[in-house]
Amino acid sequence: MGEYTDCPNCHEPTPSENLNCIYCGEVLNKPVGTLSGLRYSFKGWLAALIALAVLAGFLALIL
Ligand SMILES: [Zn+2]
Repeated sequence: MGEYTDCPNCHEPTPSENLNCIYCGEVLNKPVGTLSGLRYSFKGWLAALIALAVLAGFLALIL
């Protein structure tokens, strides 16, 4: 309560319960480190793979 986080973009103090900076809209509490980034991109790849699998299954049904 009443805690402020410095925005990584504009360095203005933004209430830490905010998801975005109230000044510039920068996303706060970003995942830090490559591990989180990898997990996010892995999610994207997984979604793409599932979409491909569904498409392949659909094609197999038609052919
Ligand atoms: Zn900002």
